[in-house]
Amino acid sequence: MKVFKFGGASVKDAEGVRNLLNVLNKTGNSNLLIVVSAMGKTTNALEEVVEAYLKNGNFREKLNLIRNFHQAIISKLFPEGREEISGKTEVIFTTLENFLEHNKSSKYDFVYDQIVSYGELLSTTIVSGFLEKSGVPNKWLDVRELIKTDATYRDAQVNWEETQYEIQKNINPNLLTITQGFIGSDTNNFTTTLGREGSDYTAAIFAYCLNAESVSIWKDVPGVLNGDPRVFQKTQLLEQISYEEAIELAFYGASVIHPKTLQPLQRKEIPLYVKSFLHPEDPGTAVSRGRHLIPQVPCFIVKKNQVLISLSSLDFSFMVEENISDIFRLFHLYQIKVDLIQNSAISFSVCVDNKFNNLEKLMQHLRARFKVEFTKYVSLYTIRHFDEKAIKSLEKDKEVLLKQLTHNTVQMVTRESK
Ligand code: ADP
Ligand code: ASP
Ligand code: MG
Repeated sequence: MKVFKFGGASVKDAEGVRNLLNVLNKTGNSNLLIVVSAMGKTTNALEEVVEAYLKNGNFREKLNLIRNFHQAIISKLFPEGREEISGKTEVIFTTLENFLEHNKSSKYDFVYDQIVSYGELLSTTIVSGFLEKSGVPNKWLDVRELIKTDATYRDAQVNWEETQYEIQKNINPNLLTITQGFIGSDTNNFTTTLGREGSDYTAAIFAYCLNAESVSIWKDVPGVLNGDPRVFQKTQLLEQISYEEAIELAFYGASVIHPKTLQPLQRKEIPLYVKSFLHPEDPGTAVSRGRHLIPQVPCFIVKKNQVLISLSSLDFSFMVEENISDIFRLFHLYQIKVDLIQNSAISFSVCVDNKFNNLEKLMQHLRARFKVEFTKYVSLYTIRHFDEKAIKSLEKDKEVLLKQLTHNTVQMVTRESK
């Protein structure tokens, strides 16, 4: 079997869904499982519904925008006979509205997962219906019955044993399967999500459990480049990357592949192809066993909107194991993701990602024990396989707050320009 993943950009409008069919016509669709993300920026729009809902704001208005967006796509894809598909998407909206009406929980992460998961349910319903009417029979599956996780909402951890069991029991390799990325369910059957951009990971979970031949993720770029083309100029296509190198790139923040995607594939040596959905015949990038990096060029990664925190003790003691382990316990408690660490005898600096918005709470705790300084709005740049020229090109015009060099990686924290 093969596994394909189509991300939000590939199905952002009716044209995108038609193009998905075009890709399948070129690649063939037998023995295939397709994972689809929410259309375009739907997940962001649903995040706004969550905010408004929990703050007693006008979430209905926001939900209506999402409804209209999907309805507009449906009317373009189904100029005639759209009743069946509209009926199905309306059922999905009604289920969401029922949740919003009856829910009693104010736990942000829980409510978040119950709401944002609807983007994928909608997109897959539309894609599946469109393929069906275009003469491509397929089976739509609710992935929440297959991917079982713990109850860490917004960052759910996969229960591999149960997931493997359900996937092998329920997937018929002879049919074309269409299912959702990003979401799963816990032991109480509440919906969970695997973390933003988690659909790549879903594809890898299926590939692992099905012993798939390969995974292809279809993107709006020719493959993995040596830098995000939205940020860096004159980027080059990477033709081949080893699993180890791809794990490093994704871990440092190359957002073209979700970082959790690679290890399950590496375990079974399943190749991952990153390809252009506009030019499906082009080779793209292969992540597989073999040469580390072809061509061997510096790779640039940036994580924006990070926070640099510097801590020193209040009582002149050194920053050693005991202090540092306490600090990390707090990071873990507040789901602060640490990107970079630098310590000296009297100070300890970390660059962190505040994606769960717990920074203020963390600060209160830290201030009780440490002298704390922090700078918001910093960027963390990483260059793998750097050379002098690459470092110079980055340092130009930037205020570097911290720099760290290892054998083949340099990292710099810089102040973001206003
Ligand atoms: P999806 O539609 O699957 O969600 P994403 O938007 O998550 O796709 O990923 C594709 C985007 O990733 C590209 O448009 C590009 O801007 C960005 N990107 C970041 N780093 C890289 C890189 N090293 N190579 C290619 N694209 C990258
Ligand atoms: N729709 C989800 C997101 O936007 C998952 C994904 O696209 O991979 O984060
Ligand atoms: Mg994405």
